[in-house]
Amino acid sequence: MARAAVLRRHNGGVPLALFDLDNTLADRATAFAKWAEIFVTRFALEPEATPWLLSLDGDGITPRPVLLRGAIDEFDLDTTVEELIDWYEESYIECFQRESASIDAVLALRDAGWKVAVVTNGPTEQQMAKLRQTELEEVVDAIVVSEACGVSKPDAGIFREAARRCDSELAGWMIGDSPSADIVGAARCGLRTIWMSRGRLWPELSGNLVFDVLKFGAD
Ligand SMILES: [Mg+2]
Repeated sequence: MARAAVLRRHNGGVPLALFDLDNTLADRATAFAKWAEIFVTRFALEPEATPWLLSLDGDGITPRPVLLRGAIDEFDLDTTVEELIDWYEESYIECFQRESASIDAVLALRDAGWKVAVVTNGPTEQQMAKLRQTELEEVVDAIVVSEACGVSKPDAGIFREAARRCDSELAGWMIGDSPSADIVGAARCGLRTIWMSRGRLWPELSGNLVFDVLKFGAD
């Protein structure tokens, strides 16, 4: 039986699946690591600069001006934060690749009758550029980006908006890698949750059921 069908059975027949974007449908960690290598090459830095950048990035949590200012200071670069931000925004997006496995998974869910939406926190322009670069934009029913929506995960409003755009009740599943934004936020709305652990231990923010990993397959 297709895994999408198994999930639907557990879902009580409400076919709504909401997905986080970064490090859930799209491999943001690999994209940033690739960008860090490009950065190191551009400025002819020592190899140790790469783990330094990954550490300061904090899985994307660190604001970009802070990251890039930190790099300028650490490596004594002859450039400005403004110049680096302009270059970053373009070069970083190009580090994302077509997400074939995610596309196949989303299409399998939709073939099984599910509505599928992306619910992502971040700047609209950047998140939409990622969705185009990964070719996910065309395969989902709806996309809700926090900046455009006016509310961010874990606020219930962004999950409600995703359901509304899918013409669904707010009932179903949320799949994401952030314990607080994705999992706790969605669980508070009554959604079932799947946490993409990415090798981490659950921080025990709540008593939600946790799956170690779940890959939707097309089988
Ligand atoms: Mg994420």
